[in-house]
Order: sequence, then C-alpha cells, then structure tokens
Amino acid sequence: MPKPRIATLDLEGVLSPEIWISIAERTKINELRLTTRDISDYDELMQHRLKILDSQDIKLSDIQNVIENMPLLEGAKEFLDGLRSICQVIILSDTFAEFANPIMKKLGYPTLFCHNLEIKGDKIINYKLRQKNQKQHAVEAFKSLNFGVFAAGDSYNDIEMLKTADKACLFCAPNSVKKEFPQFKAVETYGDLMSEFLKFT
Ligand SMILES: [Mg+2]
Repeated sequence: MPKPRIATLDLEGVLSPEIWISIAERTKINELRLTTRDISDYDELMQHRLKILDSQDIKLSDIQNVIENMPLLEGAKEFLDGLRSICQVIILSDTFAEFANPIMKKLGYPTLFCHNLEIKGDKIINYKLRQKNQKQHAVEAFKSLNFGVFAAGDSYNDIEMLKTADKACLFCAPNSVKKEFPQFKAVETYGDLMSEFLKFT
C-alpha cells in the first residue's frame, strides 16, 4: 500500500508575492528589495533590513498594512483549497508569523511553520529563527512519520526541502534557479503543479 501523501509548499513566490518586494514598492525604499540572491548571508540581510526599518521609522503595523493589501497570486487560494481537499498541506516558509497572518487569513488559515519577530510595542527589534534549515528538517520529520512528501518552492531557500522530499517541483522559479537545479521539474502554472502532485503516488 502506498504511503499517505503530504505536500509542503513554500509561501512567497508560490502562493503570495514576495513580502519584502511589496514593502519596498509601498515604501519606495529600493534597498528593501535586496533578497538572499543579493546578500547570501541571511542574518546579514535581515540585520540590513532591520536597520532600514529603524532608520525610516517603519513600524510592524506599517508592514502588516502593506501585507494586508497585498493580493495572493492569482489562483493561489483555489489551488490550495484543491490540494487540501486531497491531502494534508503544510506551508514551510522563512517568513515571520507576524507578517504571514494576513496572508494566512486570505488562504483560509492553512498550517504554517515559519519564524518569529521580536517586537517591542509596534517596533521590530529583532528576529528569531525557530530552527535553522527548518524546511529540510520538517520534510525529514514527515518522512520519518511515514508520509510520502511532495514539495514545491521557487528559490534557493527551498532547495534543501526539495532535495529531501520524495518528489519535488520548482514553481515559477527564476531562470537562474532552474538552470542551477535541472534535476527538479519546473512548472509555471497551478494546473501543472497539481498534475505533478497527482502523478506522485
Ligand atoms: Mg519563495
């Protein structure tokens, strides 16, 4: 008998737009556009972002406001609802619970594993990774629970999750990522992603 299937999905770039890009657009602070593709050290990148938020007096509520007004990617909710009707879905994201909540509301509160911010009043003081490489560890844990894991993500921080899963797809990934990791099937639509999931038994 095949193992029960579970799907682990990245959030930003797969179901929602990139949060920091939206913040950069709304605040018109271009420096907030930098991602791990520009500064590969995540801590250095986050400290850089926190410094900008502090110097520009951008509060948590300002950011939550931006995120609340950020639409999901077109078709994301329908895709997720369809997938959740046939298997358990866990969203594995490197964002922060304080940012993700408005997105989760739009998605109907699926299960989310992510990180947390350290907040004082309305000010973001620091961030706390719950665990390093949490996406990979989560997939390892689900496999140890005897699930067959299907994973989908769009970027470098998903690669270890994709490598660890039983079946994995890149979804709307940049060309650089697709080129560097040709072992993963790259799909561009939710319909194709669902087809890949349905082929996975
Ligand atoms: Mg992503």
